[in-house]
Amino acid sequence: MDSGKVRVRFAPSPTGPLHIGGVRTALYNYLFARKHHGQLILRIEDTDRTRFVEGAEDYILESFKWCGIEFDEGVHVGGPFGPYRQSERKDIYRQFAEKLVASGHAYYAFDTAEELETLRKQLESEKLPNTSYSVISRTRMKNSLTLNEVEVNSKLAAGEEFVIRFKMPENESVEFSDLIRGDISVNTSTLDDKVLFKSDGMPTYHLANIVDDHLMEISHVIRGEEWLPSLPLHILLYRSFGWNAPQFAHMPLTLKPDGKGKLSKRDGDRLGFPVFPLEWKNPQTGEVSSGYRESGYFPEAFINILAFLGWNPGTEQEIFSMEELIEAFSIGRIGKAGSRFDPEKAKWYNHQYLIQKSDKELAEIWMSELTERGIDFSMDYISKVVGLVKERADFVKDFWENASFFFEAPESYDEKMVKKRWKEDTPEILIKVMQWIENIAPFTSAEIHEKMNDFLQKNNIGMGQIMPLIRLALVGSGKGPGVMEMMEVLGKEEVIKRIDQFISIYKP
Ligand code: GLU
Repeated sequence: MDSGKVRVRFAPSPTGPLHIGGVRTALYNYLFARKHHGQLILRIEDTDRTRFVEGAEDYILESFKWCGIEFDEGVHVGGPFGPYRQSERKDIYRQFAEKLVASGHAYYAFDTAEELETLRKQLESEKLPNTSYSVISRTRMKNSLTLNEVEVNSKLAAGEEFVIRFKMPENESVEFSDLIRGDISVNTSTLDDKVLFKSDGMPTYHLANIVDDHLMEISHVIRGEEWLPSLPLHILLYRSFGWNAPQFAHMPLTLKPDGKGKLSKRDGDRLGFPVFPLEWKNPQTGEVSSGYRESGYFPEAFINILAFLGWNPGTEQEIFSMEELIEAFSIGRIGKAGSRFDPEKAKWYNHQYLIQKSDKELAEIWMSELTERGIDFSMDYISKVVGLVKERADFVKDFWENASFFFEAPESYDEKMVKKRWKEDTPEILIKVMQWIENIAPFTSAEIHEKMNDFLQKNNIGMGQIMPLIRLALVGSGKGPGVMEMMEVLGKEEVIKRIDQFISIYKP
């Protein structure tokens, strides 16, 4: 490996939709690669055919396209180290497994499923420290360590089913370092003889992952903490092959909002927020899980949320563009502790991005919902409405609830409020208000404001007397933005129409 050259990879297994923890892993790899002018590779690890899910790979690709994580090499873009889908590299792995057998680091094992089950039960009853296929038990089993060469060769020649297992050294201390976890030391006697190559002709994750990371010249492996227990085996595999290992960084888990346990695929819809970037429909059960995209999150906000899930810049700044993240990112600032997912903070991020967008841009996004609702107003009008309601919204989909009255005059009025506000002289006052409005030109909130005091003084009316009434007439309830701002957007004619209608309904 060319020292100093950064090549990182994201290596998902297409076993279902990508969890946000997975997108975060990809993001940190992306930031690291960009920061160091290196390459990011997308490798699909699909050697476990029993867990393969139709559509999962496309889902992964679409998720990255949506949130703006770009790959330099991979299944979808090609590259000089391809193919990038492990099922298409099948032929590569067996020779590497056999190399380890030849060098004494691995062995053939011919045990049947029943024999393995018997072993497990026996080891349990003997209360041995290691109850799996390991240095303690392998001498009792049917493998190339216990059978002679002739027996092994005849079994192989007869096409008997076999696996290749790693021969874990006895009582050795494996020492290595993780960029996040620091120095780690593990005694090999606590580890088992993992299968490297399976009877179906496919490598296991461990073998394929190491071989590919080596062949693809990966310099840093940045992945989830759940892979830390596999690291001693991976280190030993590199040593057995005589290869230099990449550097490792195992990222903290993403935790549930209450901090109790890992954020699981099932948590999202149960706790009321998505755990997947895009909506996912389970092809087997038809069950639909919500996604960030469909829930109205902006991709930039989504990226910002994930960036802060386990990393921090060490400053007060919370809003980061992708460019700023690349600039600020470092593995050294990834925390060791698990990071809780905070759904309220996630909404806050989206709000920050929403208010930064122009009214016109938001209006364009909102347009599709309005069209679906049969609303047909000019872009200019819709942009003005957006300008008045966006401060109170976290998502574009919140607009309607706060703004429907800009498009439809109220059909009913909050009775409690009417009761409180409607006095005997109300119709008379509102008629004066209409006459006053008629003469305001230009009909802007500034002008309305300007003329207001004069009007109130002349008629001896208090501001608190008429404002709630005008709001009721325009909105039908006590909600909505500032009354004068609403008046400007609705326009003189519509305002007079609504006040008039309000009077006619409640006038005795
Ligand atoms: N295929 C593994 C996964 O699905 C990759 C783990 C790794 O990055 O080594 O997470």
